Amino acid sequence: MLDVLRRIIQQVNAARDLSQALQIVVHAVRDAMRVDAASVYFLDADTGRYVLMAQEGLSDEMVGRLRIAPGEGLVGLVVERAEPVNVEDAPSHPRYRHTLQRENGEFHGFLGIPIIQHRRVLGVLVVRQVAQRRFSETDEAFLLTLAAQLAGAITQAEATGGISRLIEEVSGRVPFMLRGRPGSPGVAIGRAHVVFAPANLERVPERKVEPEAVEAEVAAFREAVDAVRGDIQRMARRMEDVLPAEELALFDVFSMMLGSDTLVDETIARIREGRWAPAALRDTIAEHVRLFEAMEDPYLRERASDIRDLGRRILAYLQARHPPRIEIEGPVILVGEEVAAFHLAEVPRERLGAVVSARGSGTSHVAILARALGVPAVMGVEDLPVGQLQGQELIVDGYEGRIFVKPSDALRQEFDRLRGEERELAAGLESLHDLPAETPDGVRMPLYVNTGLLSDITPSLESGAEGVGLYRTEVPFLVREHFPGEDEQVRIYRHVLEGFAPRPVILRTLDVGGDKPLPYFPIQEDNPFLGWRGIRLTLDHPEIFLTQLRAILRAGQGLDNLQLMLPMITEVAEVEETARLLRRATDELLEDGIEVPVPPMGVMIEVPAAVYQIDAIARRVDFVSIGTNDLTQYLLAVDRNNAQVAELYDGLHPAVIEAILQVVEGAHRHGRPVGVCGELAGDPAAAILLLAAGVDSLSMSVASLPRVKWAIRSLPFAEARRLLDEARGLQDARAIRRLLNEALDRAGVGGLIRAGK
Ligand code: PEP
Ligand code: MG
Repeated sequence: MLDVLRRIIQQVNAARDLSQALQIVVHAVRDAMRVDAASVYFLDADTGRYVLMAQEGLSDEMVGRLRIAPGEGLVGLVVERAEPVNVEDAPSHPRYRHTLQRENGEFHGFLGIPIIQHRRVLGVLVVRQVAQRRFSETDEAFLLTLAAQLAGAITQAEATGGISRLIEEVSGRVPFMLRGRPGSPGVAIGRAHVVFAPANLERVPERKVEPEAVEAEVAAFREAVDAVRGDIQRMARRMEDVLPAEELALFDVFSMMLGSDTLVDETIARIREGRWAPAALRDTIAEHVRLFEAMEDPYLRERASDIRDLGRRILAYLQARHPPRIEIEGPVILVGEEVAAFHLAEVPRERLGAVVSARGSGTSHVAILARALGVPAVMGVEDLPVGQLQGQELIVDGYEGRIFVKPSDALRQEFDRLRGEERELAAGLESLHDLPAETPDGVRMPLYVNTGLLSDITPSLESGAEGVGLYRTEVPFLVREHFPGEDEQVRIYRHVLEGFAPRPVILRTLDVGGDKPLPYFPIQEDNPFLGWRGIRLTLDHPEIFLTQLRAILRAGQGLDNLQLMLPMITEVAEVEETARLLRRATDELLEDGIEVPVPPMGVMIEVPAAVYQIDAIARRVDFVSIGTNDLTQYLLAVDRNNAQVAELYDGLHPAVIEAILQVVEGAHRHGRPVGVCGELAGDPAAAILLLAAGVDSLSMSVASLPRVKWAIRSLPFAEARRLLDEARGLQDARAIRRLLNEALDRAGVGGLIRAGK
């Protein structure tokens, strides 16, 4: 038996995918145990039923169709007991249910083995015999060993969405519930409109057009240009109150380019040479891109990417020969493999219900933009069946990162109720706008916002934020196709600094790498989170860093509210080196006749090493800010983007709390203020602990700010201190969260603060 087992496991390990592995198992089991049928069932987590996934000796028709509830029949009994069920004569067993039709009578011998992992019955492995048969202990042991092997494979596949994909494949249906990552909070009900990636202009193939078809080709091209011109005007109108004037000017540039004879006429001339429109367009665009890229003026040089974008838009119309019209009624849920920021502008603001994207995470630009617009988003839905969703009704739950396809009436009602609660909560929170974040016994906690997008500014100002605690400068870098030039950066930073002046704005220097690679600066690494990211990358590229530092300094001129912050500090030398570069940037500007003061400089504490060197670091900077997102992932060794270990990722872990206390103490010894700018600061329960820990300010996404303010205004500082003392005696994040939630409940605000969360 051992040899047979070894052989099966080797074959299973060599299988192409899980589906092939299952087929190998049932086939080998039938042979090895000399049974008449072998089959395997998997738990479909959406429905709680066990689905027949692979079989030998039954009927292929039943694969994906036979779905057994726990407790139903003998297979259900295996699930119920979570133990092997060995029956010599199945039909005479009281729990027997006649589900399997056989031409020549029924099966009698039955042995079912549960596939268990972490105490959950993930599936059932079954063998059946036509004759009566009492299976031996060796038989049981053999199948138990195989089941354990399968449990590992299933858990692995579950984490990547492979199980639901496989169940969907065998059952030929779209799953009822899909899981992704929360991208922007809120709930929306609407119909899916599927968007596709823009056309790939560079890859357009060559094709000839017959002389008699040339004029039709020209007409199609003119139509495409007109359509794009119309789109751009519509987009500009929709973005009017979202983007500032400078960014809106881009739409005018686009319209001008389309109106210019060169782009249009040159393409038409090429078509008249007998070439089809897409290739003619490709060559015209390439020529203009080359011209712009060779220009001296950095602003004009940057227009090359705008021309490329225009080319892609025209091509999309040429390819489809009809505009990507939205043909559904009511709220629109944008769905796609990779929903991009510009897709949002294609839907009228009042009809945009939610965003669902197979790729991306909460830090994707489109998610940040969705948050700024107050639209729920779910990102990273790996098994999103994009091709089957057009026009389908969806419920998007941006709090939990879930999507329900074709929801039942009862579910729709439940979510309607949730939306009602949300509206009530928003109305209640609005009344807090002008009140300070102050505890009932008079302790103030300044609240700042995290941002990275110009469109965040208005809502941030309206939220009553006291400044910007973290401006992620990488966001404007991420949404472009090349490094933004110095002047362009000045415009972006100036807008934020001016918008908030005289309130402080902390600009963080470029923090790319890790999960934020720049499309135009590829980095190949096995461990990107432990690799070349943040300050490590910018210090290695002084030309990029100095450009940014100069832009930041110029942007702050005369406003007196600029502060600078460095990400991913691991060593004191990195702080010293940056301080040197900062002085060099101010000197260079002085040589150009621009006199700017050296702004206050702080660092993020997000690498555990920096926690232990807090004294040496604090001495050299003006402030510190704890980046709990990364600090948690590095302290707990849990990838912040890995769904499989998401349960372990919690900033309320006692180790994180102790690290925060250590940083506060160390920084205060040198008289330096300490902020927290990771997501933990936006968690109302955690905010209470941070207040008690002596943190001087909290910075969070604008959507979290009112709830945090409410929590702080509800609990006296003395009570917060008592909770911190008690929390320090607890062993895990769950217990600490329970403690804090109970305190918020006692203060009468727990339910409201958690509503919709
Ligand atoms: C953090 O790590 O906590 C942080 C605020 O930075 P980011 O999320 O941009 O890495
Ligand atoms: Mg970070």
